[in-house]
Amino acid sequence: MTTIDDLPIRDDLRGRSPYGAPQLDVAVRLNTNENSYPVPDAVVDAIAKAVQAELRDLNRYPDRDAVALRTDLAAYLGYGLSAAHVWAANGSNEVQQQLLQAFAGPGRTALGFGPSYSMHPLLAAGTGTRWIGAQRAADFGLTPESAVAQVAAHDPDLVFLCSPNNPTGTALDPAVVDAVLATARGMVVVDEAYAEFARPGTPSALTLLPGHPRLVVTRTMSKAFGFAGGRLGYLAADPAVVDAVQLVRLPYHLSALTQAAARAALAHRAELLVTVDAIKQQRDRIVATLRGRGVQVADSDANFVLFDVGGDQSQVWRQLLEHGVLVRDVGLPGWLRVTAGTESETDAFLSAMDTAVMEIEA
Ligand code: PMP
Repeated sequence: MTTIDDLPIRDDLRGRSPYGAPQLDVAVRLNTNENSYPVPDAVVDAIAKAVQAELRDLNRYPDRDAVALRTDLAAYLGYGLSAAHVWAANGSNEVQQQLLQAFAGPGRTALGFGPSYSMHPLLAAGTGTRWIGAQRAADFGLTPESAVAQVAAHDPDLVFLCSPNNPTGTALDPAVVDAVLATARGMVVVDEAYAEFARPGTPSALTLLPGHPRLVVTRTMSKAFGFAGGRLGYLAADPAVVDAVQLVRLPYHLSALTQAAARAALAHRAELLVTVDAIKQQRDRIVATLRGRGVQVADSDANFVLFDVGGDQSQVWRQLLEHGVLVRDVGLPGWLRVTAGTESETDAFLSAMDTAVMEIEA
């Protein structure tokens, strides 16, 4: 049988593993930070109508610049942004890949503060960018002083910040973004995939865009909007950044169907975003209940919670799976991550945790 190693693959990709959160057929799937609420019927109908209206014209390429969609996304974000400040692609993963292609790549470096989103180093690898794994403190915190010292030591071409951070859940102190922007020579990308779930008083890096042409904020419709299957991510930045990513994007990368579906979803955002409050309640309930049981839990501004299992996390992960609950082992020794979903999913997770821990202790 032929394996990758038999192929003339790039040396820097040899021995690597693809991104691979398990997609298992389990009753309670709380492992990829999706929104557990299905798309409401009224929004399903609106999306179906919008997609239907495109079908006859599928013989033509879509709007390469997705101007109508970018206009709608800018209106959603506010802060005086317009289509010129916004760029969209198939998920924020693709947006970040395009940023690396334009601003990093072979001979250049990207830096991120681990533990953080596992795709950042994988996207760096795919684009031939050398990855610099900078560190958070043992409590997963990141101070402006530590961030500045590490950026200054490595002088990267692109810095990833993630706020709220995945997998820890906690939003960054805005002083960190300020300090990194003041120190870094290269681009500063703030991944705000979970921004809509942040606790009150958490500012977005969008407030810093004026006067900071090297700052990019990435967002997604995969989480708060419950549109992960629709694949729509976007960025907000200085219009010059939008010009730069257009140098590397594939022509017609966003299909007419994606653009139409995303616009319909955005037009119905009130119905979609009502789930955010319900999810935040479940998140806060998970944090409070686990802490009540004496479990160490990271503060969460996201739709997931990182908790200390007090032992071998892979054993607890398996035990939870046996009880029909799929959570995420992010490879942090002793810790697991659970997505906050519906009330009944929280019930299932909390009772599975009870039993799993008892079984392991028995
Ligand atoms: N950033 C972070 C921090 C994420 O957790 C995710 C999804 N897991 C993404 C970006 C990518 O999401 P998408 O490509 O669906 O927009």
